[in-house]
Amino acid sequence: MKSSAPSLAQQLPEDAGAPRAISVLGSTGSVGTQVLDVVRRLQGRVRVHSLSGGSNIALLAEQAREFRPEMLVAGTEQGARELESRLTGSGARVLWGDQGLAQAASAEAVHTVVVAVQGFAGLAPTLAAARTGKSIGIASKEVLVAAGPIVREALNAGGAMMVPVDSEHSAIFQCLAGEPEGCIDRIILTASGGPFANATREEMAAITPERALDHPTWKMGRKITVDSATLMNKGLEILEAEALFGVEAARVDVVIHPKSIVHSLVRFGDGSVKAQLGLPDMRLPIQYALLYPERPDTGLPKLDLLTCGPLEFRAPDEDKFPCLRLARQAAAAGGTMPAIMCAADDVAVEAFLAGEIGFLKIADVVSEVMDSAEVGANPGLDAVVESDRWARERAAQCVRRMR
Ligand code: MG
Repeated sequence: MKSSAPSLAQQLPEDAGAPRAISVLGSTGSVGTQVLDVVRRLQGRVRVHSLSGGSNIALLAEQAREFRPEMLVAGTEQGARELESRLTGSGARVLWGDQGLAQAASAEAVHTVVVAVQGFAGLAPTLAAARTGKSIGIASKEVLVAAGPIVREALNAGGAMMVPVDSEHSAIFQCLAGEPEGCIDRIILTASGGPFANATREEMAAITPERALDHPTWKMGRKITVDSATLMNKGLEILEAEALFGVEAARVDVVIHPKSIVHSLVRFGDGSVKAQLGLPDMRLPIQYALLYPERPDTGLPKLDLLTCGPLEFRAPDEDKFPCLRLARQAAAAGGTMPAIMCAADDVAVEAFLAGEIGFLKIADVVSEVMDSAEVGANPGLDAVVESDRWARERAAQCVRRMR
C-alpha cells in the first residue's frame, strides 16, 4: 500500500449506453438520500436496481415506491418482513443482512454500486462488488482505512474500478484525470476545521453532542459530523488517500480551509499544483461517481468566485486536535492498526453521542486502545475483522472506566 503500488483509481471507464443500473447500499443515510436526489436529477440516465437500508424501514419503503428497484435489503429479517408487508405486490425481492448486501452488490445486472453504509459494515459488500467487476462509488471511508490492501487486491482480481465519493478524494481523483502514474509529489487535503476550529481546550471539554452535530459547511450523518469536529475525519481521510492513490501518509498534508470551496489539491513532481473547487454540496462528487467520466448539467448550484468570499488556508493545530496525530501514528504502524483506530473511534463517538464521555475523551479512548494494541503486519480479512472486534471491546472498557 506504499508509494509504488498502482492507484485504485486509474482504470478506464466502461462505455456509456443504456441507463446504468445502480445499487445504493445505505440508501436511507445522509449520503444515500443525496444519491437518490442525484438519481432524480439525472432523469433516466441511471436506474435503481437495488436499495439497502438499516432500521429505517418506513423511509426504505417510501424510496422503493418512488424508484421501483428489483431488490431491497433490510438490516434484519424482521425488517425485511415489515418491508414486504408495506410493499405488497411490488414484485421486488426483499433480502436482509450481510448476505442480502452482498447480493445487491454483486447482482449481474448492476453496473455501479454506491457503498454508503455506515463504517466497517461496508467492507463485505465492497469486496463482493470488487470481485464481480463493478464500478464502485465508495463513500464508506472506514472500508478503505481498515482494509485498503484487501480491497485493492479484490479490485484487481475482479477488474473493478473505484471512484471516491468523499469530496476531498473526488477532488484528488479529478485532479489526477489525464495525469501519468507516479506523478504525485504531495496530496493536500483541505479540512473545514469543524465547528470548534477556534475553541480553546477548556471550551472543547464542555462541548455537548448537540453542538458537535452543528457543522458549519457540510450536511452529513452524525458519526462523520463528530469526526469532523475532532478532525478524526481528516485523519481517516489521510489513510483513505493512501489506500486510494498509493501515496504514503507522510506525503499527504492537511490544511484548514474554513469555506470548504477548494476540496483538495495535488502537487506534482514539477511543482505544479492542481485543485478542484466547488460549493460544499455532496451531490457533486456523487454525480461524478455515478456518471464518471461524464459531467452533464443537472441544475446543481454553481460556484461563483466573485461572491464566495476570500479563500483562507492555515495549518491545523495537532495539540488541540490530537486525532490527526493518532491517524498519522496508525498510518506509520500500518498492518491492523488503522482498523483498530477506526473501531475505537466508532465506539468512542457513540459513547460521546450517548452522553457517556466528554468530547476530549474521544481522542483519549482511541489513544489508549492504540497504545495497548498488538499490531499484526499484512493482515488478511480475518485478522482485520478480529482487530475490529478486539478494538471495540477494548474501547468499551475504556469508556466504562471514564464514565
Ligand atoms: Mg470528506
